[in-house]
Amino acid sequence: MDRPPTGLESLREQVVTCRACPRLVAWREEVARRKRRAFREEDYWGRPVPGWGDPQARLLVVGLAPAAHGANRTGRMFTGDRSGEWLYRALFHAGFASAPRSLAAGDDLRLRDCYVTAALRCAPPGNRPAGQELRNCRPFLERELELLGQVRVIVALGRVAFAQVRLILASRGAVLPEPFPAFRHGLRIPLEEGRVLLASYHPSQQNTFTGRLTEDMFRKVWDEARELVGAAPLPPAGQEGPVPPKGARSRGQAPPPPPAPAAPG
Ligand code: SF4
Repeated sequence: MDRPPTGLESLREQVVTCRACPRLVAWREEVARRKRRAFREEDYWGRPVPGWGDPQARLLVVGLAPAAHGANRTGRMFTGDRSGEWLYRALFHAGFASAPRSLAAGDDLRLRDCYVTAALRCAPPGNRPAGQELRNCRPFLERELELLGQVRVIVALGRVAFAQVRLILASRGAVLPEPFPAFRHGLRIPLEEGRVLLASYHPSQQNTFTGRLTEDMFRKVWDEARELVGAAPLPPAGQEGPVPPKGARSRGQAPPPPPAPAAPG
């Protein structure tokens, strides 16, 4: 007998069928039709990208949005682009990921005690979402926060994600510092009940190519997250939390990831 879907699974179904933002629907589908030359043999995902990871995660990572030829192609957040290379390498070194690379939704990467999502689920042109699009998408992130009841540490990648997390915390009645600090890399904001919000520059090429964000700076964020989360025992083999989106393709090999479009930090 089929088991009923969990809250996260139901949410995923809602996310992947969403068409609330006409501009983004048109863009994600056009990118998926046109493709980048390096991926012309691939079927692009071309739909909203759900979060993924360990449902019992104590670490929540919030990015900006899927990259047009990254997650919009592979169907998994931060998968198939340079930003993802940075993120999963850092998560691996901090013990939150089973491998340092994220190639495709069907690879064997597993997240441990960690869930990766974004403020926006559809790739925006030029990585610039409109305010209304962020408002349309915010309930998905809000619902994820409700469903991920073990989260102790939130890492916001970039100022857009940071602002969205702040808005959600405020709307949920969280007691926040007043005045609320402006975004800066390395910022640490204590929340209620021992929870913590950390801010990091987004690992976009705009930041990593210019040296605004270095590997060392980025690793320190995850080392801090690890310390704050505590020395979590790893889940037993086979019970880690891979949650690839339904319908995402599984590939043994994927082509080398493309340059990711810039995302402001
Ligand atoms: S950005 Fe979010 S709200 Fe807008 S269409 Fe995509 S999933 Fe729906």
